[in-house]
Amino acid sequence: PPSHAHSPTIFDKIINKEIPSTVVYEDDKVFAFRDITPQAPTHILIIPKVKDGLTGLSKAEERHCEILGHLLYTAKLVAKQEGLDDGFRIVINDGPRGCQSVYHIHVHLIGGRQMNWPPG
Ligand code: 5GP
Repeated sequence: PPSHAHSPTIFDKIINKEIPSTVVYEDDKVFAFRDITPQAPTHILIIPKVKDGLTGLSKAEERHCEILGHLLYTAKLVAKQEGLDDGFRIVINDGPRGCQSVYHIHVHLIGGRQMNWPPG
């Protein structure tokens, strides 16, 4: 299969604002915006501005530990900002079996309704 490691995705255009998105949080390292096909009242994607080979969690190397922590901490900040005080769901889809469709790692922050467990 082709390596996605250095291939740009639609998320690069979103980061560069070539494609508009509803930005909810941004700092020097991460970018958070509303999913175009929301699966819940709140559905936000949190991504690193620089992919650095991190197409998905399964491709993580030790050098990615800092950005991985930053993505999760950002999810907490945005959950608070969105008023998800009764809880929320974090998802990282990985690979075909995990229903990943964009090969630039992203954390889904989903909330605003009751979640179910186990997932489908
Ligand atoms: P995945 O299936 O890879 O875990 O999630 C990719 C997500 O990106 C999907 O939930 C999809 O709706 C979202 N997405 C794909 N293209 C765009 C886009 O152009 N803009 C926004 N805001 N979200 C997108």
